Amino acid sequence: MVRNRLCAASLAVILTVPAGWARKPGEPIKPGWNLFSRDQDIQLGREYAAQISRQVQVIDNRELQDYITRMGRKLAATPEAGDYPYSFTLINDPSINAFALPGGPTFIHSGLILAADNEAQVAGVVGHEIAHVALRHGTNQASKAQFMQIPAILAGIATGSNLAAALTQIGAQGFLLKFSRTAEDQADALGARMMAQAGYNPVEMARFFEKLEAQGGSRAPQFLSSHPNPGNRVKAVEAEIAVMPRLSFTDGNQAEFERVKAQLAKLPPPRQQQQPNALSGGGASPSGTPAASQQRPESLNVPPPSGRFRAYRGPNVSFNYPDNWEVFGTQNSANMTIAPRAGVIQNANGHAIAYGAVAGIFPSPGRRNLANDTRALIEQLIDGNPGLRVTSNPRRARVDRRSALLTDLQGESPLRGQREQNVLLTVERPDGVFYVVFIAPEREFGDYQRTFDEIARSLRFAN
Ligand SMILES: [Zn+2]
Repeated sequence: MVRNRLCAASLAVILTVPAGWARKPGEPIKPGWNLFSRDQDIQLGREYAAQISRQVQVIDNRELQDYITRMGRKLAATPEAGDYPYSFTLINDPSINAFALPGGPTFIHSGLILAADNEAQVAGVVGHEIAHVALRHGTNQASKAQFMQIPAILAGIATGSNLAAALTQIGAQGFLLKFSRTAEDQADALGARMMAQAGYNPVEMARFFEKLEAQGGSRAPQFLSSHPNPGNRVKAVEAEIAVMPRLSFTDGNQAEFERVKAQLAKLPPPRQQQQPNALSGGGASPSGTPAASQQRPESLNVPPPSGRFRAYRGPNVSFNYPDNWEVFGTQNSANMTIAPRAGVIQNANGHAIAYGAVAGIFPSPGRRNLANDTRALIEQLIDGNPGLRVTSNPRRARVDRRSALLTDLQGESPLRGQREQNVLLTVERPDGVFYVVFIAPEREFGDYQRTFDEIARSLRFAN
């Protein structure tokens, strides 16, 4: 019952989100909410790029690689591209596609160039890809979908783990390749602006999309399945162009482009290989865990929380926490983990917080209402944690003289064979809902109550 009501409520919230999609041409486009720092985007992209380079056939031709790099750098040098360490790699693959990883590594299929009529059309697709990087769409979507697992992973980083492998384990990597319609619309618009700033005629982006869409049917280019049409794609790009300053544009050096195409056309077909569904092949995948009933419940050697507290003072929030715990992820990140180091574990299911708390801001669209925003947040939690369910109605509370809600949830503990008790605290803030999820195995929750109460009681906001 509770779940049904949650679904209906969250549907209403989701339906209001595309308000952001009905963006006006020329309006500034900014990256959305993100649990990762910029540096973590870069780290993640490097790790994935290393995996991908082993799975695709990078074209071994200096002249061709220099060509694509020169073109890509013109786009990467524009203000809208942000200051990421972009790289451009041409791979031997006849399908019409290109993709970019968080932080900048960009891969362009030979088939994309062969399908294009001029350099500006290729620049249109590459600009679109770079826009996904600059707008941090990959980590934004992973953050939204799995925002309880990701703080655990980011906290796990402190213990020196591989970010890409950890995301692969929780299945979050899929979000890095397929984006929402809003993200696609934004990437089209920002990509078109980059083209114009780099001197390429942005109309060629719209023309190329038109051409790809015309192919349609079962032979639809791969680019369109990984970057679906957000609706009226060509018209939206044209509307964007209409508000741009009139500059002099080029389609690129046509003679040079034809020479590049001729060279690519002569490449031997790629060796038969597993399809570079690059992001799924990488990390070690656990091959099923034995039935829990066969095993004793797992436990961790976590020292009990100290009764002595120390103060955390951040730019936006401060609170007390036990002096044998740590606060992770406070630098440039939208969330933090407050936990004993031994309570952040890595097991067959990936990283997870078994004891401690995760806090952050959950951005809420449209009109603010604590009860509705809390329901939307719980729906996101359940999306990323299918075993999770709500076990109480929200209770009213006060935090730093503001109204707050407390909601009980239960789910599977990352400790094998154990249930987990969670208490979600939500407080309305100017930029969204401030939340803290308190986490402990169900049968030990009582031992942590006093600690959690003190963290909640001591919370103070900067404004
Ligand atoms: Zn896209």
